[in-house]
Amino acid sequence: MSEKKRIAAIKGTKDILPKEARKWQRVEATAKRIFELYGYREIRTPIFEATELFEKGTGETSDIVIKEMYTFQDKAGRSLTLRPEYTPSIVRSIIEHRLHLKPDPLRFYFIGPMFRYDKPQKGRYRQFHQMDIEVFGEKGPAVDAEIVEMADHLLKALKITETEILVNSVGCQECRPNYLKELRNAAEKKRVLLCPDCQRKITTNPLRIFDCKVETCREAAREFPKITDFLCPECEENFDRFKSHLDSFKIAYIVEPRLVRGIDYYTRITFEIISAKLGAQDAILGGGRYDDMMKVFGGPDICGTGFAVGMERLISLVPHTKRSEDFLYLAFMGDEAQKQGMALARFLRQKDVECWMEYKERSLRNQMSRANKLGASWVLIVGEEEIRSKKYQLKNMTTGEQVEVSQKDIIKILRELS
Ligand code: AMP
Repeated sequence: MSEKKRIAAIKGTKDILPKEARKWQRVEATAKRIFELYGYREIRTPIFEATELFEKGTGETSDIVIKEMYTFQDKAGRSLTLRPEYTPSIVRSIIEHRLHLKPDPLRFYFIGPMFRYDKPQKGRYRQFHQMDIEVFGEKGPAVDAEIVEMADHLLKALKITETEILVNSVGCQECRPNYLKELRNAAEKKRVLLCPDCQRKITTNPLRIFDCKVETCREAAREFPKITDFLCPECEENFDRFKSHLDSFKIAYIVEPRLVRGIDYYTRITFEIISAKLGAQDAILGGGRYDDMMKVFGGPDICGTGFAVGMERLISLVPHTKRSEDFLYLAFMGDEAQKQGMALARFLRQKDVECWMEYKERSLRNQMSRANKLGASWVLIVGEEEIRSKKYQLKNMTTGEQVEVSQKDIIKILRELS
């Protein structure tokens, strides 16, 4: 007999098993509630798009486009890419459905998987998940500050502590060219210290040197000029107003002039929230403003801003809370009791009570011990005697209290005693 080869999950991907998936559900529910409090509405777009969309949107000189995209040809020979980030898809969708001509605010949120062919390590996967929010058509820095405040609200609601907010302005088309010239000169002087990738970036896009993780490049970059010293008066005023909004929210932040973010489309405000508890991959979320993207796609001239949260990293920081499962375990003895029990379970589920039955032959004692191990809040016992009398034993597993109930009383008692 030939030995069977076990098929494992692909490197850089992982299963989210049921116990963990419950935590994901709680985090997602909290996030959705908070996003909706600020007027954001869910949008869902396809997982794959034309490759060109990301080349144009994410930027041809970004690491994502150069090294990390999952690109393939479909059977008709089209080049498609599994989305590495969400913003280009939303921008495409707005233009395609002319959402900007509708009265609803252009505030969207999205939760789903992303794909990047990155080197897998702790906190860095090839399939990972993001929660993304985007707002369009709001030019002033007030909305940039509001989204930082919303991110802070989310972290507080999830009881995540010891985080830091880093902020920066990457300027605009007016002031950035001057800065890039100075940056190129400075990088040229340090060329020998830079990795081959960064040497290439000196000409293509020197800002991207700040994204490099090679230690010698990082060290060289510490000496480079700071963009905040090159901002034009408009960008400077914009950045000051953004910071003063954060001050009035009493949100502490650190200005980090090297925070350029890994994607080409940012203009003016960029920010990240980091946590030392995450280790080397310390960013929980990152975002900023991208005022030119819609135009680049041949759409209307509408500005945008937003952020993306890494779900795996966020969830790893959510403190563990022991929650009882809050379900009823229906124990039965014999075939007739199984039948009656199934009808009772149907009744309870229709009344919104989570009810578990296990169909293996087991003694009552064994079923009680299973219910205990699984963390049931209640056990309802259905045996021959109970079928005859149509009265069932209902046990509260927390207090040990047991009462006799008829079908019609079960719900009342569950609600009263829980
Ligand atoms: P970005 O789209 O690169 O700005 O990333 C936004 C957030 O997504 C980051 O702050 C991380 O929390 C998360 N993230 C990005 N890339 C990965 C990855 N390869 N694996 C896990 N999380 C990631």
